[in-house]
Amino acid sequence: MRRTPPLIAGGGPAGAAAAIALARAGVRATLLEKGDGTGDAICGGFLSWATLDRLGHLGIDAPALGGHAVSRLALFLGGREHVLTLPGPALGLSRRRLDSALLARAAAQGAEVRRVAIRSAEGRALTLVSGERLSCETLFLATGKHDLRGLARPKDAASPDPELGLRCRLPPASQSARLIADRIELHLFDRGYLGLVLQEDGSANACLAVRKSRLAEAGGDPATLMTQLADAAPALADRLAGFDAATRFDAIGHVPYGWRARSSGPGIFRLGDQAAVIPSLAGEGIGIALASADLAVRHWLSQGPEGAAAYQRQFARAARRPLAMAGLLKALAARPALAALPAALIASVPGTAALMARLTRI
Ligand SMILES: Cc1cc2nc3c(=O)[nH]c(=O)nc-3n(C[C@H](O)[C@H](O)[C@H](O)COP(=O)(O)OP(=O)(O)OC[C@H]3O[C@@H](n4cnc5c(N)ncnc54)[C@H](O)[C@@H]3O)c2cc1C
Repeated sequence: MRRTPPLIAGGGPAGAAAAIALARAGVRATLLEKGDGTGDAICGGFLSWATLDRLGHLGIDAPALGGHAVSRLALFLGGREHVLTLPGPALGLSRRRLDSALLARAAAQGAEVRRVAIRSAEGRALTLVSGERLSCETLFLATGKHDLRGLARPKDAASPDPELGLRCRLPPASQSARLIADRIELHLFDRGYLGLVLQEDGSANACLAVRKSRLAEAGGDPATLMTQLADAAPALADRLAGFDAATRFDAIGHVPYGWRARSSGPGIFRLGDQAAVIPSLAGEGIGIALASADLAVRHWLSQGPEGAAAYQRQFARAARRPLAMAGLLKALAARPALAALPAALIASVPGTAALMARLTRI
């Protein structure tokens, strides 16, 4: 049966990976992306060994994009540092560079990439900000952290203390470069964590997941929060030396960590963060985005739009274990007093760190 190519809403890792996989199967999808390629996503920019492997299969040689090699994880809590060797080589890379490479690859393979913003959706009918209307037989919904009006994920309205994502770029500095070199660092604090990794240009990506109540204690100002955290932890103060209080932060509210789509509308395939949101300290969100795109395209190629329901169920099942394990680690990490013992055990018992890392991969 002849099928019309899907529309892809969103050109982050999930949408771009779907466009590449479709193009490889001879299907020229249209991808709609609102960004103009100059901004950067709210993301730690940590690419795990498993994610690098998936990128390789898409024809993206991430190390060749100039990222910063990472082989260890350093966990800071309660004044102690626990260093774990990662199961495989990883990378710190800015999302701008990664997303640009993925979209360029999609276009080179034959996908149509349009730089337009979608205002809303009514099922598979999209209205662009320009007023243009597009409808399709199949929609790959890959708008990631941002919900599309009409197809939004359920709001966790019940949460009295929602979680927020914050990100800023720390300019290259020799002291922090020396301290962070070769590692991804997670600095745990009450109701959140701060992740640090070096990127391709020597700057450090600082990313925080934090409860709203904790940010409120810093007057709602991310820079004040950073300063308070540094004041309380000398190791972090060393890394943030010279931190400029005027630094610009990107923020996203109400991150629905742990959410999974178990069903979707007819002909609608939810990918990436629209399919499953893994707690970010696991560093597996991009891996999930790529894995969902791969599975969705395989379902679509064999069953067309009717494959959406089976895809969504199968992906929800596949995401259950990594989300549950990452959720457990996040719950512990948010209470440093509880996390100290497990962290010491993980760091000292051989094989435990590798097992944890494996259990949080899709
Ligand atoms: C604080 C934090 C730190 C994280 N750190 C890491 C990490 O270190 N490693 C890791 O693997 N994962 C990490 N993640 C998770 C990771 O960022 C996401 O899981 C991943 O980006 C999901 O990819 P995606 O393609 O689904 O969505 P996104 O990356 O969010 O991409 C969605 C795309 O859709 C576009 N879009 C959105 N709305 C519209 C619209 N209306 N019209 C047109 N285009 C639109 C956006 O511009 C964007 O390009 C982190 C997440 C958070 C919150």
